[in-house]
Amino acid sequence: MLHYLDHAATTPVPPAVAQAMLDVLTNQFGNPSAQYPLGQEAKALTDRCRAVIAEALGCHPKELYFTSCGTESDNWAIHAALWQGRHVGRHIITTAVEHSAILEPLRFLAQNGYEVTYLKPDTTGHIRVEQVAEALREDTVLVSMMLVNNETGCIFPVKETAQLLREKKSRALLHCDAVQGFLKVPCDPVGWGVDLMSLSGHKVGGPKGIGALYISEKFRNPRPLLPGGGQENGLRSGTEATAQIAGFAKAVELRCAHLQETIDHMQAMKDYCREKLLSIDTMVEVGKGQAPHILSLALPGYPSANIVSDLGAQGICLSAGSACHRGKQSHVVTALGLPKRTAAGVIRVSFGPETTREDIDALYEALRLHKEKRFPML
Ligand code: PLP
Repeated sequence: MLHYLDHAATTPVPPAVAQAMLDVLTNQFGNPSAQYPLGQEAKALTDRCRAVIAEALGCHPKELYFTSCGTESDNWAIHAALWQGRHVGRHIITTAVEHSAILEPLRFLAQNGYEVTYLKPDTTGHIRVEQVAEALREDTVLVSMMLVNNETGCIFPVKETAQLLREKKSRALLHCDAVQGFLKVPCDPVGWGVDLMSLSGHKVGGPKGIGALYISEKFRNPRPLLPGGGQENGLRSGTEATAQIAGFAKAVELRCAHLQETIDHMQAMKDYCREKLLSIDTMVEVGKGQAPHILSLALPGYPSANIVSDLGAQGICLSAGSACHRGKQSHVVTALGLPKRTAAGVIRVSFGPETTREDIDALYEALRLHKEKRFPML
């Protein structure tokens, strides 16, 4: 039996989402650029889907652009901001614990004339707005800060950073990677005054291969990501992935219909899991993440790669830090400055609407047995 406890890596697609996608693939399969009714129906469907997601995000549909994933949205946001602020300067502020979809493009930019300041989290995994204030300069062109850290579940002060930039009359643009925060914690780019915000479909019950970027209407002539046939208002060409778009919108619709209930359920699962797993001798919590769906723990001396493969073989899916790092110690764990044996044993358990107490009980039993049958490293 499968016990899926890795919802921060990706989520299962509910049947209604798969059905919405199947309808598009088999019936409403027209190209939205085509002039005949089948094409125009596909165009209307895309518009409806954009409106659903925009409403959930609290923005105008015109401010929301579909992309192929959160990574694409992050890359586009950075390049759009640097282009928009090209006369402001070449200094960028971000955190040391962003997803690699931010850190890798910034690494390339740092090799090409940009200066990047990386804000370090404290031992609980948090970043303070005062750190942004200290790092902010006249030539800061971009501040990129995630809403929820994908490994610790810490919520970052995005709203406060937007306020700070206003108070300081900074010309820096603010990008927020909200891939882990959207529909999990309060997220209001328009109300907060965020300029760019990245989303991803497969973290909220949608399919993989679809993301979105919010670009504030304050941007005049944002830099196109993909010049070509002119889709997405001329900014991101390529025939629209209509089935993926329909799946993303359906998933958002489903989550929004029971949003508080889903958040409360994830929080209850997290609380239950924390209590149960911390009763295992020597297990510790890592960081103090408040997001309802992510719990980071460590079994000092028991390498997380072994835990993940041992439990995986029993059908229990969880991750060692971020699933993207495949065995390498994650930069987030490194940034927390944990003792070596603790850092080596960090695991991330993450929850969704489908998670049950039985999933957590199975994880608890398997971890207890893992600890009994393995010797800890020195
Ligand atoms: N940003 C964060 C915080 C993430 O957790 C992820 C995926 O794990 C991404 C960006 C990348 O999203 P995608 O997998 O849609 O490219």
